[in-house]
Amino acid sequence: MIIDGKAIALDVRTKIHEEIRAIQAKSADFKPSLTIIQVGARADSTTYVKMKLKAAEEAAIACNIINLPESATEFELLNHVQKLNESVDVDGILVQLPLPAHIDEAKVTSAVLPDKDVDGFGPFNVGELSKKNGEPTFLPCTPKGIMELLARYNVQIDGANAVVLGRSDIVGKPVASLLTKANATVTTLHSKTPQAQLELFLSQADIVVAAIGQPAFVKGEWLKEGSVVIDVGTNFVDDATKKSGSRMVGDIDFESASTKAALITPVPGGVGPMTVASLLENVVIAAKKHHVKNNATPKFTN
Ligand code: NAP
Repeated sequence: MIIDGKAIALDVRTKIHEEIRAIQAKSADFKPSLTIIQVGARADSTTYVKMKLKAAEEAAIACNIINLPESATEFELLNHVQKLNESVDVDGILVQLPLPAHIDEAKVTSAVLPDKDVDGFGPFNVGELSKKNGEPTFLPCTPKGIMELLARYNVQIDGANAVVLGRSDIVGKPVASLLTKANATVTTLHSKTPQAQLELFLSQADIVVAAIGQPAFVKGEWLKEGSVVIDVGTNFVDDATKKSGSRMVGDIDFESASTKAALITPVPGGVGPMTVASLLENVVIAAKKHHVKNNATPKFTN
């Protein structure tokens, strides 16, 4: 069975829209807003930013984009972040990654105020996520979207044997944390895992999350019969039959994996749309918190 990320994401976005309208019916000044900063003009980043803008607007979230040239300095970027941190009109701040090599990504993501950090990449949210009983304000969008997909398809996580391929800060590590919190036994594999071990772990996995950026790397014959396979990979391979000359594929070899898996996400149409939907959910969480804070009237007692 193919997991329909597109349909679930649409449902999430529709609910967000309804929730915003319902709050606005009582409180007209509730206007969730997201600001995205893009440095440079990488084609893939521009595509992702446009997708986020369109989805935000459809959900009644105001979305502003700040485009800085590739040559922008770290100082300039940090200044923009600081201004957005201070603005009462901004609920969520997203710095589109990757940044040009001359800018320290960690320094920039750490500069975003925790209660505007809708990407969940800053030290407060990362730290809370990794604590046993931590309470992050925002979960990172792709891992959050993956957990929602698993929930919607009633996947049994408690007691499951889960394998996460990849240990990045934005996908692999937080997904492993969330699966561990949900009581899966989690093994993280990475580029230094010997191939024989990698195949052994995969053959025992009830749930596989692949986030390595290697086109069609995971073969069906490595997987356990009846497993749940989540493909995060977004890779472009040459395809002369396409007008663009390329086609998007995941990290899983979909054809062979779909003969083994009980549930599998397609690429595109699986995890990608959920990432965007989760971002919008985070913006609404931020907006609700700010709305309460900004409208709090001092109470005087005699
Ligand atoms: P990343 O930062 O490049 O990390 C890749 C991870 O994969 C690293 O931990 C690396 O190991 C590991 N790896 C690389 N080759 C491997 C191999 N042959 N076997 C096992 N592990 C291997 O990537 P990322 O940002 O997590 O993204 C991963 C993929 O997901 C990319 O295709 C990206 O475009 C996609 N993505 C999609 C979405 C979405 O919404 N659909 C969101 C985010 C990312 P080391 O740590 O040892 O180097």
